[in-house]
Amino acid sequence: MILLNKKKFLNIVVDFSFQMRPEANIMYFKLNRKFVMRLSRYFLPLMKETPADAQIISHRLMHRAGLIHKTSAGIYSWLPLGLRVLENIERIVREEQDRIGNHYIKMSTIQPADLWIESGRYDAYGKEMLRIKDRHDRDFLYGPTNEEQVTDIVRTHLKSYKDLPLNLYQIQWKFRDEIRPRFGVMRGREFLMKDGYSFDVDFESAKKTYQSIFQSYLRTFRRLGLTAIPVQADSGAIGGNMSHEFQILAETGESTVYYDKRYEELANSANIDFDELSSLYAVESEKHDPATCPIPEDQLLVKKGIEVGHIFYFGTKYSEVMGLKVTGSDGKPFHPEMGSYGIGVSRLVGAIIEASHDDKGIVWPEAVAPFKVMIIDLVNSDDATMSMGCQLHKALISMGIDVLYDDRNERPGVKFATADLIGIPYHVIVGKRSTETGLVELKHRKTGQVQEMTLDHIIEKFNKDKS
Ligand code: ATP
Ligand code: MG
Repeated sequence: MILLNKKKFLNIVVDFSFQMRPEANIMYFKLNRKFVMRLSRYFLPLMKETPADAQIISHRLMHRAGLIHKTSAGIYSWLPLGLRVLENIERIVREEQDRIGNHYIKMSTIQPADLWIESGRYDAYGKEMLRIKDRHDRDFLYGPTNEEQVTDIVRTHLKSYKDLPLNLYQIQWKFRDEIRPRFGVMRGREFLMKDGYSFDVDFESAKKTYQSIFQSYLRTFRRLGLTAIPVQADSGAIGGNMSHEFQILAETGESTVYYDKRYEELANSANIDFDELSSLYAVESEKHDPATCPIPEDQLLVKKGIEVGHIFYFGTKYSEVMGLKVTGSDGKPFHPEMGSYGIGVSRLVGAIIEASHDDKGIVWPEAVAPFKVMIIDLVNSDDATMSMGCQLHKALISMGIDVLYDDRNERPGVKFATADLIGIPYHVIVGKRSTETGLVELKHRKTGQVQEMTLDHIIEKFNKDKS
């Protein structure tokens, strides 16, 4: 609500003062002091030193770029810039879930132990589970995953086969007391996961559900600027090839993936064919045996991967043990078929950086970037350059583009280095000369390409990008 009001206010001010007069532009800036993202006022604690335990590049860059703050081993707080990325990922994940008709819910993080005793997993889960007692000495836990809890919800509220298929998902914090939390948010103890759970009348229907999730995962990762390889995972006794881990290729990955090189091509094609894709060879190193590998060596790629998603069909395991039954079309009660589907939302922030950085810093894919444009005012104390910067700022904001304005009293080199480090996709550089020529520089972070342009051209370019 508050946000909406601010936006509204900003738009009114934008309409009101959208003129070329420098005073008006600067007035806008001053009036909107609180709403304009000015770097001099932004909470961006950049770090020169990185913690000793930061072994991999994404972990170091996340600290250096002020994205996170370490609270305790494997437990992080998200600072403004990092949170913007996390929320952008969440938004894309949600859009792709909603697109295939899954329902967004939010289960509590704290669960009663009773549910897990019922399923038989309370003891089996072991030390990774954070166990808690309340004031009455009753046993609770901080959820490491939610199969029991969602099964309880569905068994309470669902009565008939007519309500199936059903897919409930959430984006919620999990706690797993990992023995070796490391690599920052990639293997945390507290981490954000999208977890979804499906309920179907029979195997045929469960298989369709599984396939639609499979395809939607590939689409989700592609939108995040990533190529994900779906690797066959253990699926227990029942499922055929109905469990996959989605691996992002990166040198620092914890797993080694052996896969058919046709994967990359197929996974990036517009129409993903489940049967074709899931029949291609892709396994983790433990399962790869050169003697039995079905494809010739020259068709095989071996790369390191980061697991960013895991989907799993498990039949009636939980519905049976927890007594979830609904009435079938023949009037008889039956146990629905289930599956669960996870995406490591907070791990993805690290994984994206692993897959997309250079020696200057992060290179955010546009879809998840915390801001799309950074305006770098090289003079800063000069009304004329500020007026140009403000004019562009106003125009971009009114187009719904997120802009960060570097108005710090710093040398150009420092400003360029910050913009590169935090990985904003486009930098617009306004210098003394710009006020004479009317030209500013537009730099593309990824390619390093710089073009001189008028403000109008820049506005036009971003307008075109949008449509
Ligand atoms: P891993 O083998 O990496 O421990 P998992 O098999 O335990 O993963 P799932 O239970 O399938 O993972 O969880 C779904 C997703 O949640 C994983 O694919 C991963 O992206 C993410 N995830 C799991 N554990 C962590 C963790 N400790 N920190 C951050 N993300 C995690
Ligand atoms: Mg694990």
